[in-house]
Amino acid sequence: MAGYDNVPDYEIKRQIVEVAQMMNRKGLVGTYEGNISARKGDKVYETPTGNSKELLTEGKIITVDMDGNLIEGELKPTSETPMHTICYTLRDDVHAVVHCHAPYCTAFAQANMEYVDKVSPEMNILFGKVPCLKYGTPGTPELIAEFPKYIKDYDVVFLAQHGVLGVGETVLEAYSKIMSVEMLLQVYYIRKTLFPDVECDLPADEIEKLTQMRLKNRNK
Ligand SMILES: [Zn+2]
Repeated sequence: MAGYDNVPDYEIKRQIVEVAQMMNRKGLVGTYEGNISARKGDKVYETPTGNSKELLTEGKIITVDMDGNLIEGELKPTSETPMHTICYTLRDDVHAVVHCHAPYCTAFAQANMEYVDKVSPEMNILFGKVPCLKYGTPGTPELIAEFPKYIKDYDVVFLAQHGVLGVGETVLEAYSKIMSVEMLLQVYYIRKTLFPDVECDLPADEIEKLTQMRLKNRNK
C-alpha cells in the first residue's frame, strides 16, 4: 500500500503538527507526553522527545531510520521510537502511529484492563476489543516483545500503567481511532455510573453479526 510514499515531506510534517495540536487541545497529552510518527518508505518522521505538542512546528519534526537512528533534524528522537518502528515492521498497511495519554484510555491501562463492551455496535464493528499490553519499561525490549501478539489484530491497544497507542494509514486516522475509543469509554463510564444494575448487552447473535462485519472490513 502506498501510504505516504507519494506525499511530499512538508505535507507529512504538516499533518503531524496538525494532529499534535488536536491532541493538545483535547487534553490528551501533558507537555512532554505522547508521540506521533509517519512512515515513508524506510524513513520515519516523528515528533522529537521533550517538546510541547502545543508549540510543535514542522521544523521540529525529525526523521529516523527503522532502527531509530536519527537521519535528519536538530532534536532528539524519543526513547519510545521502537514502539513506533515495531508497528511498521509488523504491518505493511500501517503508515502512522500515535501514542498519547488520553485519560479514559489511560485509566484502563493503569488498571491493566482490556476493554470489551457488548453494548455498543460501533465498538464491535470498529474494534472488537482493545487489549492491554503487559507492562514493560517504556522504550525497552520487554515492552516491544508484547507488540507482535496484538498489533496484527488490533488498531488500538492500551499499554499497561502507561497510555494508549493507535495505528492507521494516516496520522489523522490513527488519532481518530484513539479518539473513538476515548469517547466510547466516556459513555461506558457514564452508563456504569448512572445505571450500574441495568443489563444492556446486545444478544450474542447480534455481536456475532457485528464481529463478522468487522472482520470483513478488515480483510478488504
Ligand atoms: Zn507515553
